[in-house]
Amino acid sequence: MPAFESFFDKGWYILGEEVNVFEKAYAAFNQTQHAIGISNGLDALHIALRTLEIGSGDEVIIPSNTYIATALAVSYAGATPVFVEPDAATYNINPEAIEAAITKHTKAIMPVHLYGQACNMTTIMAIAEKHGLHVIEDNAQAHGATWAGKITGSWGDINATSFYPGKNLGALGDAGALTTHSDALASKAAMLRNYGSQKKYYNEALGFNSRLDECQAAFLSIKLKYLMEWTQQRQAIAARYQAALSRIEAITVPYCHPDATHVYHLYVIRCAERKALQHALAEKGIGTLVHYPVPPHLQEAYQHLGYKKGAFPIAEELADTMLSLPLWPGMKEEQVDYVIAAINNFFKK
Ligand SMILES: *Cc1c(COP(=O)(O)O)cnc(C)c1O
Repeated sequence: MPAFESFFDKGWYILGEEVNVFEKAYAAFNQTQHAIGISNGLDALHIALRTLEIGSGDEVIIPSNTYIATALAVSYAGATPVFVEPDAATYNINPEAIEAAITKHTKAIMPVHLYGQACNMTTIMAIAEKHGLHVIEDNAQAHGATWAGKITGSWGDINATSFYPGKNLGALGDAGALTTHSDALASKAAMLRNYGSQKKYYNEALGFNSRLDECQAAFLSIKLKYLMEWTQQRQAIAARYQAALSRIEAITVPYCHPDATHVYHLYVIRCAERKALQHALAEKGIGTLVHYPVPPHLQEAYQHLGYKKGAFPIAEELADTMLSLPLWPGMKEEQVDYVIAAINNFFKK
């Protein structure tokens, strides 16, 4: 593998040429002035908050139906995650619910482009501007998606993404990045990810060790070239599912807002008989997953916030009915049709 050999031969393992090259390439892809390589998506979210000096006593608005990392980042920063319900059709954060949740402690909105569909960013940006709030996009699932023609990860003040192996752009281990148009935020984030240091052995802030690995950066630079092609494959597979499954009454297929594009990190259906369907598919050798079975406000880790079941009925209902079907770039039409046939068969009985 030439990428690995060249990395190894250089013997420069931390914050070297490969991270530099990837940061430039990813910034160009994401249409931002800067990309800053970070060790993983959770750290990227956390450093975004730290860069904006959000911490103790502050509130950050996040969707109630996200992956736990979004909430954990807020907690790491010492701030309080304030959950708001998603839109029941797109599963993305509901702008009306955001406005209702704003208090004098609110500092930021953290929209999550869930499953790969862009949030309603024009409305979210307008709300943020009206109330003087920061916006930090959690773009871990939506590399390359757009709202109103503008790419996700380029709307907010400073935005986080993940290159966890299973994401649309995945490394061969943990990796992530921040994206921003701001020179000041970019250099501050780069300083925080590297022990709070810009000049070696001089530390201007209580920073972190959250650097993107050179080796992962080298792999990501190669994989980034294929991302658009892989995204098209994801979209074609989703379209094939959509055409077949939208005929089945017992299933709710994903809805994509006309102003959004969807990069189908996951193809998630809803079904009241999820457990039985999942079991029937497993018997045919079809693996499915639930993203996510327990919303953050009902996790044991967040017991101290004092939410009870019923606090966020939409998120809870989604958690009870969601099912992610198999979808990966390179999945063959026959494989998609095999899944479709198995689902059809289940509902015929
Ligand atoms: C994967 C993911 C993260 C965290 O990324 P890691 O690289 O695993 O830390 C954050 N938010 C969302 C929505 C994710 O899907």
